[in-house]
Amino acid sequence: MPTLKSDPGSIADQNRQPSDKLGHGGIPSLDRLLRTPGLEQLQIRAGRQLVLEEARAELAQLRQRLSAGKSGIAVGLDDLAARIEARVGAALQMSLRPVFNLTGTILHTNLGRAPLAEEAIEAMAKVARGAANVEFDLDRGKRGDRDDHVEDWLCRLTGAEAATVVNNNAAAVLLLLNTLANRKEVPVSRGELIEIGGAFRIPEIMRRAGCRLVEVGTTNRTHLRDFTEAVSSRTGCLMKVHTSNYVVQGFTAEVSDEDLAALAHEHGLPYMVDLGAGALIDMAALGLPHETTVSETLAKGADLVSFSGDKLLGGPQAGLIAGRADLIAKIKKNPMKRALRVDKVTMAALAATLRLYAQPESLRAKLPTLRLLTRPVAEIQAMAERIAPALQNVLGDGVRVEITPCTGQIGSGSLPVESLHSVALALHPQNAKGSGGALKRLAAAFRALPRPVLGRITDDALHFDLRCLEEGGDEAAWLAQMADLRL
Ligand SMILES: *Cc1c(COP(=O)(O)O)cnc(C)c1O
Repeated sequence: MPTLKSDPGSIADQNRQPSDKLGHGGIPSLDRLLRTPGLEQLQIRAGRQLVLEEARAELAQLRQRLSAGKSGIAVGLDDLAARIEARVGAALQMSLRPVFNLTGTILHTNLGRAPLAEEAIEAMAKVARGAANVEFDLDRGKRGDRDDHVEDWLCRLTGAEAATVVNNNAAAVLLLLNTLANRKEVPVSRGELIEIGGAFRIPEIMRRAGCRLVEVGTTNRTHLRDFTEAVSSRTGCLMKVHTSNYVVQGFTAEVSDEDLAALAHEHGLPYMVDLGAGALIDMAALGLPHETTVSETLAKGADLVSFSGDKLLGGPQAGLIAGRADLIAKIKKNPMKRALRVDKVTMAALAATLRLYAQPESLRAKLPTLRLLTRPVAEIQAMAERIAPALQNVLGDGVRVEITPCTGQIGSGSLPVESLHSVALALHPQNAKGSGGALKRLAAAFRALPRPVLGRITDDALHFDLRCLEEGGDEAAWLAQMADLRL
């Protein structure tokens, strides 16, 4: 039975049904509605309160539409019950769901960045179910430090004396600045006053951390003498920010880590580096562009380095700080650390991810981020050739499917200028004048699938970069759900 009827007589028809026991204005009463068999069952399955709230909301909406003079609205018991059931279903549907990331951006901040390794997922599930020794030292039978579960491994992998973990790298930078330079000045090159993904802006983080930003140099060129002139008794630390998501090209100059570290140490100041992506291994060894590693930065004289857990490292969302033991001890004593700490589930995932680095040979196989970043184009091409005919079949004549080379990116500000050669399925709507609307509808249909498929609209086509569609399970699931596509 259709829920909306265009025949204005339908309201009157429904009203005549004697069993409806109509309330005010021809609408069934709430009480009567809740006693229909369908909604009685629904209350048992979904909870009485939820059904009651959605029924009230539906009735309120109905009254409003009727009083606005809208005609052709079905008010029969069955129609109403069906609409209420749909509302309850929508309320119970998880809004946070797995999606297919075919955008071509591998570490996509809006899509949760790094996919986790199986080892990390298992470790999370194990500690999630019950109690775990998060802050309990099992050897000594005493209270422990939650960082103990990852600190050793962070030190092994970076060469740092000590390390600590907080909620994300933004939190790490905030905590670092507040610990080292509260009520003090921090000189930063004008070329590094970055904004990352909306709300993370260095000048604002500085202010919130209680520091006074001293801008030095210019956008394209900053020299050591600019820093030398800016250092005074009011300085709290020197800082370098990795310009993750852009590059300054042409007539440029920046001060090296070595020079900044030397200058800081001459004045008895700590030198901190916000590294952002935080590679733990040499990406060049995997055929990717080189990205400065945490250990390289420490070896160049940085006292503290901060980086993300869910960028190139390939772990859960976390902010990691590695460096000098005395400074890490100070950070751990800052009350802000307590407010920014991570939970046991994150800690478990991070601990398991770090342990995978013990065997660099198997890292590519086990760590999805590295596996996806290094996936051979020939393999993606072969997948495209397998999938394209099946997709064309589903889409019919209205949309032409084309296999096309494309470039993706690592994302999350990692290696911003490097693009990853990949292969995409380009979907071209046919016979649609000004295909903008048709493209948007096509993209919406893919987003409406049980596991939404997200692509990228460029050059008058909807592009699905297949780099992140894994062979086997994912590929099969992707194809299987195409039967649900409603164009
Ligand atoms: C990504 C990034 C941040 C923010 O890290 P989150 O983990 O997103 O909080 C800060 N600084 C730099 C240089 C970055 O690249």
